[in-house]
Amino acid sequence: APIITVEHASKTFPNGVAALQDVNVTVCKSEVVVIIGPSGSGKSTLLRCLNGLEEIDSGHITIDDIRLNGNKKNRDIIRQEVGMVFQSFNLFPHLTVLDNVNLAQKLVRKRDDKEATDTSMDLLNKVGLGDRAASYPSQLSGGQQQRVAIARALAMHPKVMLFDEATSALDPEMIGEVLEVMRALAKDGMTMVLVTHEMGFAREVGDRIIFMEHGQVIESATAEAFFENP
Ligand code: ADP
Ligand code: ADP
Repeated sequence: APIITVEHASKTFPNGVAALQDVNVTVCKSEVVVIIGPSGSGKSTLLRCLNGLEEIDSGHITIDDIRLNGNKKNRDIIRQEVGMVFQSFNLFPHLTVLDNVNLAQKLVRKRDDKEATDTSMDLLNKVGLGDRAASYPSQLSGGQQQRVAIARALAMHPKVMLFDEATSALDPEMIGEVLEVMRALAKDGMTMVLVTHEMGFAREVGDRIIFMEHGQVIESATAEAFFENP
């Protein structure tokens, strides 16, 4: 059953750029969908619309039976159900790793300190950073910071995770450790939509590949079929 449905979604920015043009996408539970395409083809805009960071002008987006329809309440619900990881890690520099992962749990989910910390420590251990909870982001490598950002997103218990070029800002030797965390999530059955330039990884973990160009979905195929017939 689809958990994400995008129907006839279009979006034009005020500058006239048609970033999405009649996009149709469905993502099933536990599916890993990889979006590829040239720079400026609308990949990032599509992810941002799935997260409610941007709104489409027309069409429909439904996630877990909740329609993103410009209704603020629905958007707030969906933001909690959809975790997003960006190219830049966006951690708060003045907060420790633990406090970064705790923050939204306390503010949004109203968890008390112990409850939040228990969840955060579980997740930090999962991404291999249990021993860095008291560190500040600037004391970590890029790969470690990105793993903290993933733990922070997971702390909200999202039903879907979006990754927008999560490894593009990393030094090559740190890409592997972030992909490893993403691979484990996929294996765990997390529903994931990711934009990546890591074609080997896309082929390995992707169930389906969506190719975008000029704001349109040009091709949607199983990873197997996509890489057999380039
Ligand atoms: P991709 O992620 O595939 O590189 P984007 O979704 O970032 O593509 O961008 C799609 C198009 O929309 C590009 O032409 C980009 O310049 C434009 N765009 C993206 N965000 C904005 C914005 N906030 N305002 C105006 N144009 C934008
Ligand atoms: P990405 O490809 O990951 O979207 P960009 O560098 O294209 O990264 O965009 C970074 C930010 O700038 C995004 O918030 C995007 O919406 C915004 N942006 C991109 N293109 C434009 C544009 N032509 N005008 C205004 N804002 C833009």
